[in-house]
Amino acid sequence: LASLGQLSASVAHEINNPLSGVLNLSMLMQRILKDDGVPKGREAEFRRYLDQVVAETARTGRIVSDLLAFSRRGSPVRSEADLNAIVGRTLSLVSHKLKLMNVEVECALDAALPHVEADSSQLQQVVMNLVLNAGEATRKKGTGQVRVSTRATALKKEVVLEVRDDGEGMPPELKERIFEPFFTTKDEGKGVGLGLAVVYGIVQAHGGDIEVESAPGEGTLFRVTLPVRGEAAAAKA
Ligand code: ADP
Repeated sequence: LASLGQLSASVAHEINNPLSGVLNLSMLMQRILKDDGVPKGREAEFRRYLDQVVAETARTGRIVSDLLAFSRRGSPVRSEADLNAIVGRTLSLVSHKLKLMNVEVECALDAALPHVEADSSQLQQVVMNLVLNAGEATRKKGTGQVRVSTRATALKKEVVLEVRDDGEGMPPELKERIFEPFFTTKDEGKGVGLGLAVVYGIVQAHGGDIEVESAPGEGTLFRVTLPVRGEAAAAKA
């Protein structure tokens, strides 16, 4: 694991970049704005800067919430959780974003899925991070398909969540590193590299397992297995 110093430096850097963007854009807007408003003919320019301020601020917000999720991971507050309902809620939260990315989501939820003793909001985070990554993996193609499924294992002692995409996939050397905190292949500012570290931490804290199947050009499958009973987690840990 990276040292605390390295972590704080990356965090500071990740937040500082969009923030200085916002500062520059705001200063440009200040300069354009006269006492009686935005001068005729410069409205479009002004609006463009304002749109960028919104985008940069939203990005900073995402980074900060990733960081919060990362620091909170590991202490699940368990209750009876319905993974299917969590998947449904999460998909409706991200459906707009996925539509904008031309990503179609298909769901195959096991109607007889047992409830699990788990932290619902942490599981929501798991589904959200996996689904958004899946969508992002299809970005280069311009369109994609993501399939989310749930099922129980044979003895119904575990539930399995699968998120599959037909995106760019990963070579083995990348696959090995994806759960490391701050590991990312995304452009500067696009990703912080905490999404899968958070997922990994949450799954571990629940006594579960996560597997990845992926090959370049062949898409990716993430499979999360969670024990139905919270006790199983304690016994395993
Ligand atoms: P971030 O999304 O900020 O980059 P993550 O920890 O969520 O951070 O992911 C780390 C890296 O793992 C990504 O940058 C990407 O290279 C790779 N990755 C994650 N999910 C997928 C996927 N579904 N398909 C291909 N690559 C993926």
